Amino acid sequence: MYNIAIDLGGTIVKIGLLHKGKVLNMVLLDSRRLLGLEANLNRIREEIDRLLSLQEIDAARLGGIGLAFPGLVDSVENRVISTNKKYDDACRIDLNQWVKQNWNVQFFMDNDARMAVVGEWRHGAAKGFDNVVMMTVGTGIGTGVIINGQILYGKHFQAGSLGGHIVLDYRGRKCSCGNVGCVESVASSFFLPSIIREHARLSASFKRKAEKENYDFKEIFHLAAAGNADALLLRNECMDVWAAAVVSYIHAYDPEIVVLGGGIMKSGDIIIPHIQQKIDRYAWCPSEKVILTAANLGDRAALAGIDYQLRKRERKKHGTKNI
Ligand SMILES: [Zn+2]
Repeated sequence: MYNIAIDLGGTIVKIGLLHKGKVLNMVLLDSRRLLGLEANLNRIREEIDRLLSLQEIDAARLGGIGLAFPGLVDSVENRVISTNKKYDDACRIDLNQWVKQNWNVQFFMDNDARMAVVGEWRHGAAKGFDNVVMMTVGTGIGTGVIINGQILYGKHFQAGSLGGHIVLDYRGRKCSCGNVGCVESVASSFFLPSIIREHARLSASFKRKAEKENYDFKEIFHLAAAGNADALLLRNECMDVWAAAVVSYIHAYDPEIVVLGGGIMKSGDIIIPHIQQKIDRYAWCPSEKVILTAANLGDRAALAGIDYQLRKRERKKHGTKNI
């Protein structure tokens, strides 16, 4: 059986055709997220149909369709519970109906960072471990947690998902979630322009240039590597924030391994040793050293996670091990 997995990112929608955990083909669309989910559904449907016909997959061989969503998701009812400035119309859209009408196959949806940890746990950097935390630094910061071989959900499907919104500075900047001083508001791409503009120690010329050229983390890491003092200060502060967050996740969830993902991991050779050193110094885990590693499925982790969940449901339905 084949599955379609959709990863509804903040800036890009990824649609993958998967077979047994492997992405056979993938298309990327710019998300037009400000227009909401409804406005994107037709294009997504067209791309799914195109992927299926390209690979000559007919309805009988399509096992299911799954969606990774950047918000809180009820993965039993397949409904978006709450959004945060991304696809804010999603709560009132019935995706069960959308899938049923168009393809009439099983449908599954879940939080995107939770599906990324499932992907890395079953097929990627955390394969073989039963206690895993993953932090993804993208537009925002997402987390997902596996404890004792089980995906962490909690009473309202939000356990482990809100790692971007633990408070690092209770007197800090207002976050998009309404809270103050969250990790995301102190060191994420979404807040980078405000972080630079409001920073007390960055030079005026750096701030002007950053605003004019719309600096992202890629540029900050690039400038820091070239020895720019402002970029170095900013880069190191952000890495300290991510390290503090990881230490808090270790204290909260007791993982064996922490996986870091997202676009920033192109600079993993700088980030991993920096954060590992902070973990070794500050995390209270006397029993065993926690491993820190870069994700190895790249931007396909959530697609692999969705595929795994679809296959798990298919196996349950048919009482077989081999789907
Ligand atoms: Zn927040």
